[in-house]
Amino acid sequence: MSKRAERVVLALGSNLGDRTATLAGAVRDLVALPGAALGAVSPVYESAAVKLDGVDENAPRYLNCVVLIDYTGDPYDLLDAVNAIEAEHGRVRAERWGDRTLDIDIILFGKLVLDDDRLTLPHPRAAERDFVLAPWGDIDADAIIPGRGSVRDLLAATGNMVRRAADAPSAPFEGARQ
Ligand code: ATP
Ligand code: CA
Ligand code: CA
Repeated sequence: MSKRAERVVLALGSNLGDRTATLAGAVRDLVALPGAALGAVSPVYESAAVKLDGVDENAPRYLNCVVLIDYTGDPYDLLDAVNAIEAEHGRVRAERWGDRTLDIDIILFGKLVLDDDRLTLPHPRAAERDFVLAPWGDIDADAIIPGRGSVRDLLAATGNMVRRAADAPSAPFEGARQ
C-alpha cells in the first residue's frame, strides 16, 4: 500500500558562512530526499539573531526562508535527513540558539500533532517567529498553524521586524524548482 504524501513546512536559517549558498544548497538537498517533492520556496528574509537572553544585534544576522515539500515517509526519518543536511553544511551543535551555518526546523508535518523527546509538531515556537511566518505567508497566504491561528494574524502579532533580503533574491533557488 502506498502512503499518502503529506504537506511539510520547513523553516531554514543561516547566520554563518556563505548564507545564500548554504540556503540554496539546503533547498536542493531537501528536494532530492527520497519521498520529497518540491512545493514552493519562499523569498529570503533577513533577521537579527535571537539568543537565550533576547535579540543579539552583535551576532551575525540570519538569512531565512521557508520551503514547502510534499513528503511521503516517516516524520522521524525526515528529522534524521534534515539533521544530516545540517551536518553536511557544517552545522556544529554548541550552545542552544548559538550561531550556525544551517538550521532546518520542521514547522508542520501535515496535520500531525506530536510531542516527544525528538520531535514536537507543530513546531512550538514558530507561531511567535516573524522570520518563519513572513516567508511562509508569502508562499501560502492562507496558511494556518493548528491550535494557534492563521499565519497572517500570528505575523501581525509579532510586530514583524523582518525584511526581504536585498542581496538575496529567490534567484539562487531557481535551480531547485522542478
Ligand atoms: P528551536 O527549536 O527553538 O528553533 P534550535 O532550532 O536552535 O531551536 P536545535 O538545536 O536545532 O534547536 O534542535 C534541538 C532538537 O530539537 C533537535 O535535536 C530535534 O530533535 C528537536 N526538535 C523537536 N521538534 C522539532 C521540529 N519540529 N523540528 C526540528 N527539530 C525538532
Ligand atoms: Ca530553529
Ligand atoms: Ca533546529
